[in-house]
Amino acid sequence: MKSREIHLTAYPKTEPTAANFKMAETDIGSPGEGEVLVANKFLSVDPYMRGRMSGVRTYVDPFALDAVMDGGAVGQVVESHNPKFKEGDWVNSMHGWREAYISDGAGLNKIDTTHIAPEDYLGIAGLTGMTAYVGLKRCIDLQAGESIWVSAGAGAVGSAAIQFAKAMGAKVVATAGGQDKVEYCLSIGADAAVDYKAVDRLDKAVAEANGGGVNAYFENVGGTHWTAALEVLKPKGRIAACGMIQRYNDPGAKITDNLTYIVGKSLRIQGFIVSDHFDLLPAFIGDLGKWMAEGKVKPRNTIVEGIENMPDAFLGLFSGANTGKMLVKV
Ligand code: NDP
Repeated sequence: MKSREIHLTAYPKTEPTAANFKMAETDIGSPGEGEVLVANKFLSVDPYMRGRMSGVRTYVDPFALDAVMDGGAVGQVVESHNPKFKEGDWVNSMHGWREAYISDGAGLNKIDTTHIAPEDYLGIAGLTGMTAYVGLKRCIDLQAGESIWVSAGAGAVGSAAIQFAKAMGAKVVATAGGQDKVEYCLSIGADAAVDYKAVDRLDKAVAEANGGGVNAYFENVGGTHWTAALEVLKPKGRIAACGMIQRYNDPGAKITDNLTYIVGKSLRIQGFIVSDHFDLLPAFIGDLGKWMAEGKVKPRNTIVEGIENMPDAFLGLFSGANTGKMLVKV
């Protein structure tokens, strides 16, 4: 059987372009004894993949050049010679950036699509939601009645963080790029939202929108946002350092010069990688199920059609093309 897949052709030094990717077609054969053939239905593109395009090992290996890339994917079993899977089963895997694959079942997780749409296992009900949960629960230890600023609030992790923080009883101020995204943040429960592209002083705009300083900051952006957060945090404020997308294509960008606030305000900063916190998975699943049943949390995805458009979907993360989770429908 033939499967189309995406390869990385070079490690970009700054902003990647479509020229860094190419589509290839591979004969993946047919499943043997103990194997399954899976057709991917939805593929995930994520900012962390940019780090894997540097050719250097960070907390995860770089992508190999001129070979199929990997990443989150959900698909359906179309042929099974493995007793653990049957035709029609939905599975979650890391075999993304391709239309189909053959597996012996290792690393495939069956997903229950009764109450959660398959694609949401790549978004709010998957690692994206878990990331927001870990940042709020473990890194910040957010308490009811506290105020929190969530940056990239209209993105995948950010929109999950807004909704979870509200469900935990916090007051939320969000930032996002553009009025449509501001409206979206308000529609999912943010008490206030600021278009960071339309203000001169982000710290002042956030403090004004919130009616004063914040107790906590959920960091998705870095750079200008990090600088503003150190200004606007109250004493004993906490930061969940989740991501710093502003620097991913510009590693030489200036780092803030107001770090002394960390001392003066007794701030606590906790960086994290979601996969180090899987012990929180049962608590996440329990809370998410409850919040969804109560109507407090709603998924939102931006879906790009066609595997051939996957590089554009990925590049769109860096120009703000998505609201909610960016996905590709195969
Ligand atoms: P998003 O869905 O938030 O997509 C990225 C968004 O970031 C864009 O829509 C855009 O929103 C904003 N953005 C992009 N470039 C810039 C820029 N230069 N300056 C300001 N904003 C920018 O992606 P995710 O939700 O998947 O990821 C959010 C963050 O969380 C990332 O930093 C990512 O690396 C991190 N992450 C960390 C994990 C961990 O384990 N620590 C796990 C998963 C994600 P806008 O239009 O509002 O500017």
